[in-house]
Amino acid sequence: MGGAGSGLSEFYGARPIVEDTLSLDVRELKRRGCLKPGGSWTWSWSADGEPLGAIGIAAFHDSLILGHTWGRQGESSETKCYAIALVWTRCHFGGERPWFLCPMPGCQRRVAILYAGERFACRHCRNLAYDSQRRPSYWRAGERANKIRKRLGWPYGIFTERGSRPKGMHEKTYRRLLAEYDALAGYCEAIVGACFGTLRA
Ligand SMILES: [Zn+2]
Repeated sequence: MGGAGSGLSEFYGARPIVEDTLSLDVRELKRRGCLKPGGSWTWSWSADGEPLGAIGIAAFHDSLILGHTWGRQGESSETKCYAIALVWTRCHFGGERPWFLCPMPGCQRRVAILYAGERFACRHCRNLAYDSQRRPSYWRAGERANKIRKRLGWPYGIFTERGSRPKGMHEKTYRRLLAEYDALAGYCEAIVGACFGTLRA
């Protein structure tokens, strides 16, 4: 679903990318002539006629410069420009094939496909990013529970002591927060209890 346009002016017309499923395949770029040194292109994605994003690509002999923004309109308007190194390896039956080097710090894996994000990155780096975003549900429940504790002026940590209704808080608000807190904390305790094979006292 990728496609190439041309023209340097379009480089700056890059639209924000919002889908982390979008990817850039170095073999497809090569097939479409987008790795030719000195050239610049707009690479865009769409699905059912709806634009999903576009990036600017400027090609050099041993690298590409990508320019794009990430996130929904208003969320992030900062355009990032960075280099992706290219390496070429000899093919078994003659000719050369290109590879990206993943641009994430400390990675530099040689890959054919980079995935969209704040920066394009290899699958490995992308999965690491997912892991921190997609923490287990009890983690999120714990975070929410601690937010309630903070609002109640209780010390941090669902396994620490509860406090009482803070001064100035309406009784009704307090009860609502307490009910939510009990549900969240109970959920976390049940999971942690199950993990450690213990029962809630
Ligand atoms: Zn990587």
